[in-house]
Amino acid sequence: MSDDDQTLGITESKEYATGDWYAEVCQKAGLTNYGPEGMSGFIVARPRSYGLWERVQGELDARFKDTGVQNAYFPLFIPESYLEREKDIVEGFDPEVAWVTHGGHEELEERLAVRPTSESIIAPYMSQWIRSHRDLPLRVNQWASVVRWEATETKPFFRTKEFLWQEGHTAHETDEDAWEETLTRLDQYEEVYEDVLAIPVMRGQKPDHDKFPGADTTTTVEALMPDGKSVQGATSHHLGQSFAEAFDITYSDEDEEERVAHTTSWGFSWRSLGALIMTHSDEQGLVLPPTLAPEQVVIVPIWQSETKEEVIDYAEEVAGELEDAGVRVELDDRDERNPGFKFNEWELKGVPVRFEIGPHEVEDGEITAVHRPDGEEVTLDRENVAESVRDELDTVYAKLFADAEENIEANVRDADDRAGILGTLGQHGGYVKAPWCGDEACEEEISEQMAAEIVMVPFPDDEEKHHDDVLAGDADCAVCGDDADETAYFAKSY
Ligand SMILES: [Zn+2]
Repeated sequence: MSDDDQTLGITESKEYATGDWYAEVCQKAGLTNYGPEGMSGFIVARPRSYGLWERVQGELDARFKDTGVQNAYFPLFIPESYLEREKDIVEGFDPEVAWVTHGGHEELEERLAVRPTSESIIAPYMSQWIRSHRDLPLRVNQWASVVRWEATETKPFFRTKEFLWQEGHTAHETDEDAWEETLTRLDQYEEVYEDVLAIPVMRGQKPDHDKFPGADTTTTVEALMPDGKSVQGATSHHLGQSFAEAFDITYSDEDEEERVAHTTSWGFSWRSLGALIMTHSDEQGLVLPPTLAPEQVVIVPIWQSETKEEVIDYAEEVAGELEDAGVRVELDDRDERNPGFKFNEWELKGVPVRFEIGPHEVEDGEITAVHRPDGEEVTLDRENVAESVRDELDTVYAKLFADAEENIEANVRDADDRAGILGTLGQHGGYVKAPWCGDEACEEEISEQMAAEIVMVPFPDDEEKHHDDVLAGDADCAVCGDDADETAYFAKSY
């Protein structure tokens, strides 16, 4: 697609053709290309989307480093014998692993897995590095890509065979320490979703049958998309001692007794960009929160030949002032494009605030500011624009967050029986919370009828998220009628 095709704008409906609309936004806003023919499932992250990833990365990385995590890097390949040491990992990832069998013209003695996740290559080194309780806690993180060969239709950022992520791996003396670590990372994921991506999330844990292979507990943050489907935003796993036992991660305690460590792992991927695009964007194109936008403000000067000089001078001064104040600003003074074209183009690209500066603004010492999400116009005083622009950016962020929050608040519904779960999901989507016995078969009964699953089970102490009957202690499973002491959140999901 050439740049000129952008003049066509978005043609698909977000509401009625969400998938097509999403693909169109990714393409026309210059975010992604599909991989080469014969490589379905791979995408190219163009500079505009990679820049978003870099900002998200920066936010997470700073939080990790503030809390005792160091970055490292481990090989892309994992020997098959390593992968086999933790049996749940082998079973869990087996159908999705890509294998290297040859190096050059020679067949390898042992197949190498392209990492689907790195526990099996990191744990052996943790085992070497940890000797005594003084070496704990040990916390390493790597920024990398992993490959999971899923035979599904490509959806940029949501579903790709190779994806970018970070994976953190830690080891601790006690079970409690490992659990605390698991929740610290979940908190940080929640914070980045809410304070950087402007997306409120639900915290909870995965049902036992959907845990990370080998984990004691998998915790998750889930985000609800405007089409009623849930996105697993990031996961943090309490691995217990299964990996430590399989890979000999042991330490000597204060009494020189040999002990097995407790480990965690946690990951946040570029799927977050999918959630970002899907949540905020609209039929004019991409919408970005000011926290992530490459350009927070675009200035579009509007002039006739006799006013050109004064308008451009004024616009340049404003741009300079914003830049000095640390605002990411772009002055679009291209001669060959008219203001209407520029408005459309920057809307398509998602710039949060547009400044319009014409002869009237120059004369009155003002600036017209337009908010990208809803087109609201605000007149700003030229004098203290470097300060007031901060308020405008904050307001845009607040609008995006409020819209997303409204969506999630309006779309959690109760159900007490199978018909209620299916009917509510079919009619509204969103989350349906129902008492559940804990048996996977009851989830299967629902997913056989409809592409929906249990995406989350609230934490035991998170009372407001539980179904009333479960809280009251006399609940029956909505599917089979047996005693239920858990609340399941059913949803369709990405
Ligand atoms: Zn049941």
